Amino acid sequence: MSYNIAIDGPAGAGKSTIARAVARKMNMICVDTGAMYRAMALFMLREKVDLSDGDAIGKKCADADISLGFEGGVQAVYLNGENVSACLRTEEVGNMASVISLQPAVRKKIVELQRAIAARSDCIMDGRDIGTCVLPDAQVKIYLTASSEVRAKRRFEELAAKGETCDPAKIKADIEERDYRDMHREHSPLRQAADAVMVDTSDMTIEEAVERISDICKIN
Ligand code: C5P
Repeated sequence: MSYNIAIDGPAGAGKSTIARAVARKMNMICVDTGAMYRAMALFMLREKVDLSDGDAIGKKCADADISLGFEGGVQAVYLNGENVSACLRTEEVGNMASVISLQPAVRKKIVELQRAIAARSDCIMDGRDIGTCVLPDAQVKIYLTASSEVRAKRRFEELAAKGETCDPAKIKADIEERDYRDMHREHSPLRQAADAVMVDTSDMTIEEAVERISDICKIN
């Protein structure tokens, strides 16, 4: 049986960065599930699917073949055979991922793929519904969070470092809107699993958060 660590939490809590660092330390692969929803969102944007039409999204997702590759432990996301990893981190794709992920057909397709990866490999999987839905039997579950102010500031700095101009107030509003959608959706809403350990990274450095999670993994 493989060893699985589930990390869930809202946008900008540091899940991906922290999960990658813990995975390196523990010599496991790290599965960023948000990237899979982002790849599906990119597909819908490219295909010009009406994003207000849930049924159209649900039907169209059958045409998207999403798969992951791991080169040197680093995840690459393939959409119908094309490596789209470099196209996924824009605000537009992130916000659209939160819209298309409301659709049960999209979730079903992506969750099957996630479970297959976790069944064959020791991994850290980060997302919104990993501890509650995708891997309810994960050996360790973490709920990683931070205040919306801190998360918006981190996102602003991340975008500024890439040379993208952005309005801090708009970033905070987008994060809060995304949180609301992710937490209140009908299917697999974001919430802390009953057996997950909460880690609030508002006042932590990345190194401190990695240390804390490594400690939790050792205790479990
Ligand atoms: O984590 P990231 O910001 O890349 O996720 C993008 C969006 O994908 C989230 O806002 C959420 O709506 C969706 N998502 C999800 N379930 C996951 C991971 C991401 O619904 N396990």
